[in-house]
Amino acid sequence: MISALVDFFSLAQGWLFESVVNPFIYYAGLAEFTEEAFEGTEWFLIGVCEIVLLYVILRPLEALIPVHPITDPRARRLDFLYTVIHRLGAFTVAVFFLLDPLIDQVTSLLHLEGIKPFNLESLWPGVTDLPLVSFLLYLIVLDFFDYWYHRAEHNIEWWWGLHSLHHSQQNMNLWSDNRNHLLDDLIRDIYMAVIALGIGVQPGQYVLLVAASRALQSLQHANVRIHFGVIGERLLVSPRYHRLHHAIGLGHEGNGRGTLGGHNFAVLFPVWDIVFRTAYFGKTFEMTGIRDQLPAPEGMGRDYGDGFWSQQWLGLKRMVAFGRGQQSETPS
Ligand SMILES: [Zn+2]
Ligand SMILES: [Zn+2]
Repeated sequence: MISALVDFFSLAQGWLFESVVNPFIYYAGLAEFTEEAFEGTEWFLIGVCEIVLLYVILRPLEALIPVHPITDPRARRLDFLYTVIHRLGAFTVAVFFLLDPLIDQVTSLLHLEGIKPFNLESLWPGVTDLPLVSFLLYLIVLDFFDYWYHRAEHNIEWWWGLHSLHHSQQNMNLWSDNRNHLLDDLIRDIYMAVIALGIGVQPGQYVLLVAASRALQSLQHANVRIHFGVIGERLLVSPRYHRLHHAIGLGHEGNGRGTLGGHNFAVLFPVWDIVFRTAYFGKTFEMTGIRDQLPAPEGMGRDYGDGFWSQQWLGLKRMVAFGRGQQSETPS
């Protein structure tokens, strides 16, 4: 079954590449990037599969066991647009395949100097021969770095200016994982790709690691009443656990902005929240958003925009204003 799917995928990739992508890059005079374009076709197709799977599996669940009714269908459609842009976009591709040759160069330079770069294989010889073990190990190591990236987004003022766009969705749903500022997306994709290359992940495996991580993150944002039980909640980030991170005034207002200083930053594995004392295993399914979005006196009615470009523009403005320490001022 799995091998039939893999065969079908390769066939589709080959067809799309031969009939659309390859003629285009020749026409555009980009023949030297043929290999990268072939990999890019794979990312694109994986993105398509992800979107179809999410729609088929998570949409019915959202209809069956929702946390709240969707009061703003337009905001949900916009999140879908973010998903299409990010998952079918060239971001990760460009980053990984531009960086890959660069790191290759650095590696060969170090090799010439007799310095061996760090990777898991040199730390634990033979580990990368066991595909499942190395897959899980890489997933856990990458998740550790993702946890600290996420904490920085909340604790560095200008960065919160960008990341708050992700938190401004008050109708959190299966597409909300991708509601991010493009600049933040770019920084994160570069950061994760550098680490992946730095620990010796092969490009073919990186595609699968990213796909697995994204699928779990989409589930976490879905508008569904799902938790994984006492033990499961501590092993894998569930929709309830991540919803607590998005809860108004509870989970994300770190750095003196909230009562608990922010919690549940883990991206896939709550173990990082447990180890670094930021875990909160509440049992409620909270409404999501940011306190300053609320009307006075509770909030200040801050506008995060209701269209793609207005959200991106306001994100940049917040980045500059928050970076100057002007977070509590009424936005103009
Ligand atoms: Zn989130
Ligand atoms: Zn966050």
